[in-house]
Amino acid sequence: MELAPSAGECTFCGACAEACPEPVFQTPFEMAHGVRIGEGCLAKAGIACMTCRDVCPESAIRMEPRMGGPFLPRLDAEACTSCGACIGPCPADAIEAFEISDEKEEVHV
Ligand code: SF4
Ligand code: SF4
Repeated sequence: MELAPSAGECTFCGACAEACPEPVFQTPFEMAHGVRIGEGCLAKAGIACMTCRDVCPESAIRMEPRMGGPFLPRLDAEACTSCGACIGPCPADAIEAFEISDEKEEVHV
C-alpha cells in the first residue's frame, strides 16, 4: 500500500488505521513526509499560477508579490499537514513530497 497524492489528498479520516491489522498508526496522525514547491513552478518561470494556493485546505500557501514577475507561492511548513491536496492539481507537477528527517522548515520557491 502506498500514499498516492496524485490520486487525491489524505483527509485524515482514519480509515486506513481502522483497516490496518498492525499497530503501526499513531494518533494524532502525523505524516512522515513534508511537501515543498520545486524548481518547476510556473510562477518562478514567469507564468502566473495560483492553483496550489487555491486548493490548499489549510491556507498553508500564500502568494507573495515580487518585482518584475508573477506572485510566487510560499509554503508555510508549520501550517501544512502534508495532505497532498496541492500535488495533483499543480499544472507543472512541481510540488513534491520529501521525507522529514529533522524539524519542518519553511520552504520558499
Ligand atoms: S500550482 Fe504549481 S505551478 Fe502553480 S504556483 Fe503552485 S507550485 Fe507553481
Ligand atoms: S500538502 Fe500542505 S500545502 Fe499542500 S494542500 Fe495539503 S496542507 Fe496545503
